[in-house]
Amino acid sequence: MGRQDEQIRRHFQDLDRSLFMEDHQEQASVDAAFPIGHGQTISQPSLVLQMTLALDPGPEDRVLEIGTGSGYQTALLAPFVREVCTVERIGELQEKARKRLKELGMDNVRYLEGDGSLGWPQMAPFDRIMVTAAASRIPDVLIEQLAPSGKMVIPVGPPSGQELLLVVKDRQGSISQSVITYVRFVPFVGEYQ
Ligand code: SAH
Repeated sequence: MGRQDEQIRRHFQDLDRSLFMEDHQEQASVDAAFPIGHGQTISQPSLVLQMTLALDPGPEDRVLEIGTGSGYQTALLAPFVREVCTVERIGELQEKARKRLKELGMDNVRYLEGDGSLGWPQMAPFDRIMVTAAASRIPDVLIEQLAPSGKMVIPVGPPSGQELLLVVKDRQGSISQSVITYVRFVPFVGEYQ
């Protein structure tokens, strides 16, 4: 069990997902992915909760998120960590997410429009890394930017379906990984597609 599981579950119940959706708002409580524009999707809520719990966020953690998208995953994480640094390649999506998160009073979020396969070198290292697009393999740079004792959740595999991995870096810097579940995410655009 993660340190903040109870609080995260309660926040998940309280958070209005329709605020993060462009259309289909009346279906916000349906446990399914929906389009958010630019060919991208907001994931099904049960999966976003599962990923948040698997990441085991702590109040002192600095978190890198790749794929801001609607900002829904960001909004589940932000109250439970020191800071979320979120990277998104589509500026318009990130701007909308920024407005939503600001209205919710989540001011411990930093935004970068850019390619997540570069991570965010100026802000590294990160205690936690959450990747919400499907990569063909784990980007080396993200392993480098993960702090000792850090954890990363990332979907890895072909476009047809991926393993959702929990990647753990121990205090000496050794990496181990385990499969959380099987998922289907939109592609991680670029070198790791
Ligand atoms: N976490 C989001 C899900 C977004 S879908 C949510 O809760 O709504 C995945 C997002 O990753 C998309 O917005 C897509 O544009 C973004 N993405 C894909 N490849 C990327 C890359 N190389 N760098 C940054 N963002 C990327």
